[in-house]
Amino acid sequence: MTEETGPAVTWSATRDRGRLIAESLGNGVTRLSEEIVAPSERSYFYLVEGSGRDCLIDGGWGLVSKTEAMRLLSARPLVAIASHSHFDHIGLLHLAAERHGHEAEAATFASPDPQATQALPYLEGRAVLENGAALEPSSIVQQTCPLDRFVADGYRLDLGGRALTVFHTPGHSPGSLSILDDRSGFLFTADVVHDGHIYDDIPGADREALLLSHRRLAGVAFTLACPGHGAILRPDAVRDRIERYRRETGV
Ligand SMILES: [Zn+2]
Ligand SMILES: [Zn+2]
Repeated sequence: MTEETGPAVTWSATRDRGRLIAESLGNGVTRLSEEIVAPSERSYFYLVEGSGRDCLIDGGWGLVSKTEAMRLLSARPLVAIASHSHFDHIGLLHLAAERHGHEAEAATFASPDPQATQALPYLEGRAVLENGAALEPSSIVQQTCPLDRFVADGYRLDLGGRALTVFHTPGHSPGSLSILDDRSGFLFTADVVHDGHIYDDIPGADREALLLSHRRLAGVAFTLACPGHGAILRPDAVRDRIERYRRETGV
């Protein structure tokens, strides 16, 4: 996060939308992010490859062009699981043939207005782009990405050769999901646990629920946590982060 402010640019006037950065994590999992977003503001989303179809876990800011995104996403049928409906995670979800997420945020996926996605007030005057510029919030055209299937805690999505299990982990947002891949043991935690600031005071957030979600995730066996922001975390680092959050909230 940065408090610096840069000149606001209108998105439609930005010609070069940059590259999609793809980093293989092994086990048929690729971490994706957008070059044009400042490193401190980048969100991470993930492509998990099955033998039958691939799953996109979240969709980033969605600032890259469709052509650039399809370069990496068009190989096989694509289903998406949305961890939550904030603007920095839903940008490319519209490219999936089918979207799964929690009913509690269905209205925002269907109609992603900038207040509901938290784009406002977050983007106001904030230097979020790699070149130090801010984005004019009203210039962002957020694609609608309505959910095709509501998923509840314990839902399993079979991709062929591997399955993803969904945990309902509210607190950062009411419908926040964490997702465990049974092949790699990776746990995708989005904004529920990561090594940066965990937002718990925004509309829809609930500190008590977040503490319970953390307690739940602390009991899940996994090999690596793949968050929506910041570094990939080992289980001991996740436990430390959860403990630090608990102390910060004074519980
Ligand atoms: Zn979020
Ligand atoms: Zn986020």
